[in-house]
Amino acid sequence: MNVYDSARMAEILAPLGYAPGDDPEDADMVILNTCHIREKASDKVYSELGRLRKIKDARAENGHQTVIAVAGCVAQAEGEEMLRRAPYVDIVLGPQTYHRLPEMVARAHRASAAGNRAGGVLETDFPVESKFDHFPPKRSETGVSAFLSIQEGCDKFCTFCVVPYTRGAEFSRPVAQIVAEAESLVAGGVRELTLLGQNVNAYHGLDDGGHEIGLGPLARRLAEIDGLARIRYTTSHPRDVDDDLIAAHGDLDALMPCLHLPVQSGSDRILEAMNRGHDVESYLRTIEKLRAARPDLAFSCDFIVGFPAESDTDFEATLDLIRKVEYAQAYSFKYSSRPGTPAANMALQVPEDVKDERLARLQALLMEQMNVFNETSLGTTFDVLFERLGRHEGQLVGRSPYNQAVHVTAPGYAVGDMASVFVETCKTHSLGGVLIEDGRPVPDPRAEERLSA
Ligand code: SAH
Ligand code: SF4
Repeated sequence: MNVYDSARMAEILAPLGYAPGDDPEDADMVILNTCHIREKASDKVYSELGRLRKIKDARAENGHQTVIAVAGCVAQAEGEEMLRRAPYVDIVLGPQTYHRLPEMVARAHRASAAGNRAGGVLETDFPVESKFDHFPPKRSETGVSAFLSIQEGCDKFCTFCVVPYTRGAEFSRPVAQIVAEAESLVAGGVRELTLLGQNVNAYHGLDDGGHEIGLGPLARRLAEIDGLARIRYTTSHPRDVDDDLIAAHGDLDALMPCLHLPVQSGSDRILEAMNRGHDVESYLRTIEKLRAARPDLAFSCDFIVGFPAESDTDFEATLDLIRKVEYAQAYSFKYSSRPGTPAANMALQVPEDVKDERLARLQALLMEQMNVFNETSLGTTFDVLFERLGRHEGQLVGRSPYNQAVHVTAPGYAVGDMASVFVETCKTHSLGGVLIEDGRPVPDPRAEERLSA
């Protein structure tokens, strides 16, 4: 979501003459877009700011001004404290105020011109107006695959999580606004959309008739857009998988057959302490229903190990759940205590070495499952959407329906094309294959050269 937000900030600043750059040493303004979800991410912000301060001072010696802005959830959580701790920061802005950025930049320039070093601009309220109503309607992004935020915020209040405090209450964008943004992306060459939301399947936006619709019907509407080949969405919550969404997975070719459905833990006791609002049985039932609608659906997941009071038995239950589901991919984290969340004050915090040991065992099992999943791709044929050029001449790199990177020698094809590919090789992070045309493999000229050599 921060990638999406950063792109939108760039778009809203374009009329002021700003364009994205590569090097902070040449930049008139640097925006750090920050994440507060775990302690490690947050800690990085101040060390990065220290580095930017040096650049700002060096540029000032040469007569150049540098505006430093901190956006995102650390900005939201720290607010005024950040301006105190790092007074060289000019702007601190929370995730729901990005549309006000041009005005904030003007204020920062005025403060600086007046020599007012204590004039840092702070915008961390949750405005009544939606930033999405103020972003430019046309997207300037180029590329084959793009993110599109359809929902933000969360009302679920899992006891470990900062999102409801930093991103605010759950909000769904209206259908027409999403469709218009999707159409402008597709007109610019985008062929794959990843719909984003902290709880993307809690989506309940208004359609043109003023009725609320869920993610399933929204996916159906987007699938009608000519030229849009693939739709993905993330992150879903197990409680919000409804029958409409399950049916959409069965009916829509454009809806890719992989689903990120975080469970966090395989122990009912821990799920309850986390306030997840579902148990293991209901999670497994949801997976079963989805697999019944779309048998080739693959699942990915998030796990937290070492939540307060997690016992060996609880942890073993998580491993059992993983063995039952058989994931294609997963992210896993050590529980990180976040200030202001209920779990931070819970008794029986788990020692770091126990978390380390559990994480290593969990990741070993998940890695095994990921390898098995990738190996099952061997000898199969699927569509690959080419995203970029490969390192060798004539080689393109694309994505399988399951989001695996696939390397193919495909002369005559271009980025943005889709081709049928037979998978021949499998490494940890990528697959290799040959083109299939008219039902037959197209020989790879490089392989032939190697053979004759
Ligand atoms: N809405 C999604 C998750 C969004 S946060 C859901 O409910 O599943 C992304 C992931 O970060 C979470 O799935 C969780 O695994 C991890 N995470 C969030 N807070 C955390 C914390 N305090 N410590 C460790 N991991 C955390
Ligand atoms: Fe955080 Fe997801 Fe729980 Fe919301 S549902 S509080 S975003 S973990």
